[in-house]
Amino acid sequence: MAERNKHQSLIGMRLEELETYIEELGLEKFRAKQIFKWIYSKNVRDIDNLSDISKDARLKLQADPKALPIGSLNLITHQISKDGTEKFLFETKSGEKVESVLMKFEERDSVSACISSQIGCAVGCPFCATGTLGFKKNLSAAEIIEQVLFMQNISGERIDNIVYMGQGEPLSNYDNVVESIRMLRELVGIGVRHITVSTSGIVPRIDQLAKENLQINLALSLHDPTDEGRDFLVPINKKWPVLEVINSLNRYELITNRRVTIEYVMLEGVNDSFEKAKILGELVRNLHCNINLIPYNQTDVSDPFKRSPNSNIKKFKELLEKTSRNKTVTIRRERGHDINAACGQLANKHQ
Ligand code: SF4
Repeated sequence: MAERNKHQSLIGMRLEELETYIEELGLEKFRAKQIFKWIYSKNVRDIDNLSDISKDARLKLQADPKALPIGSLNLITHQISKDGTEKFLFETKSGEKVESVLMKFEERDSVSACISSQIGCAVGCPFCATGTLGFKKNLSAAEIIEQVLFMQNISGERIDNIVYMGQGEPLSNYDNVVESIRMLRELVGIGVRHITVSTSGIVPRIDQLAKENLQINLALSLHDPTDEGRDFLVPINKKWPVLEVINSLNRYELITNRRVTIEYVMLEGVNDSFEKAKILGELVRNLHCNINLIPYNQTDVSDPFKRSPNSNIKKFKELLEKTSRNKTVTIRRERGHDINAACGQLANKHQ
């Protein structure tokens, strides 16, 4: 019964664990491999749909009062934006809401998923809907990968890129996030170079991640190049200030040989001055990085933060390219604006 007590669903079990579990239910060990294929290659969520498994065996998988379901999340809402972006709101077994977003990029023929790692977030960035919830709970590795499998099941799409950029600070849920990355690689078949973890800058965890030999991409939500500005926008900066976090990215890059990404949300009158563009350019000049400018997704008219005008973002980009000595600076294309696709917006409405 050990495996049943440790897990809430078949998703998240290692093959050996699934073998032990089904043997405890009186089934043959080889069935575990069949079930694995159904879950991870065919995105099946219902035991009745395991069609090459006999009816008797399926009954055994369901009849035991302690039998586990394939997945533990429930789908609450599924919205599709005019631009094709799909937003999913799931509910955990204990009733918390989890958001995930699926984006299709036809020009690149790829499908990306933005997934959550926590319920709420302790970092408390004032412009972020999730930050206003406070921290509620870490998601398990199984709940993290199930978001991907569930989205594939509903949309019929094969996801090839994953970003840990939904609700939560992934490096504050370090063990489950690293375990979920390994599962995405080994069970779901997603290449690690197609997985990006976005952090607000937990320096000891960035150093730890560098040594995991995962070869994933790392993004830093910098949002302001000065300690004064960043203390306000990303309060964790009071613990690990700008220079410390940039130095940790340098170490990450040295150890992993992977280029990092600097994320910068453009907020009118807050962090979008041309002076800040110059400071930012000089700050990252010696870092092997790309910079991604993110037009702010305003929640509603009462939102105290406003998005920077496009003309301003363009000028900021030009100055940044110049002062950073030709780093690649991109402006993120907005997606799912009509369905509140920014992190935390939908969950907030439902909490
Ligand atoms: S932006 Fe990220 S780190 Fe900041 S509060 Fe939101 S989820 Fe947390």
